[in-house]
Amino acid sequence: MNVSKFFMSQKGKVVSKGLVTHKISRAYSKNMYLLPVPKDKITEFGFDISPAHVGNLLNSIDFYVPKDTPIFAAAEGKVIKLLDSSRSKGNTVEYWDKGNFIEIMHSKKESTHYEHLRYKGVKVRICQKVKAGEVIGFSGNTGFTENPHLHFQVNRYVSKDDFVTVKARFANFIDVYKKHKR
Ligand SMILES: [Zn+2]
Repeated sequence: MNVSKFFMSQKGKVVSKGLVTHKISRAYSKNMYLLPVPKDKITEFGFDISPAHVGNLLNSIDFYVPKDTPIFAAAEGKVIKLLDSSRSKGNTVEYWDKGNFIEIMHSKKESTHYEHLRYKGVKVRICQKVKAGEVIGFSGNTGFTENPHLHFQVNRYVSKDDFVTVKARFANFIDVYKKHKR
């Protein structure tokens, strides 16, 4: 696959749907987070291994783990959005909003977003309060994806509906952004 061409066309389409903005941040998160998957299940990870991590999604991290891996809340917070009814997957942008996901709001205007969960793989409800490290769901391969993985991002809200991703600071893992540089 021609990655740069894919990158350009996907980016163009996504921008036109208003899902990715050109706002970027190079800042680290204000909160400290826990790894959202068991360390020993990770086969590959990185923030710069997906062509979809552009614009305001720049600092997202993909953790390659097998399907049905438990997903942990990265910090305490309140569930604000979720989807778990999707059975669809594909590697075109039409599948962008077909990924099962959870978003949890934390302090300091930061939230964490967990994407590509399995069908019916969400184990929390809207407005539920969760503790750091609590199992919130199970990984899968739904949405805009090729192989099973967890897409993880830390959002910092700049207004009610608008955010940038920031670099996740982990209490129990390496600085992912130093593993690869771009
Ligand atoms: Zn991703």
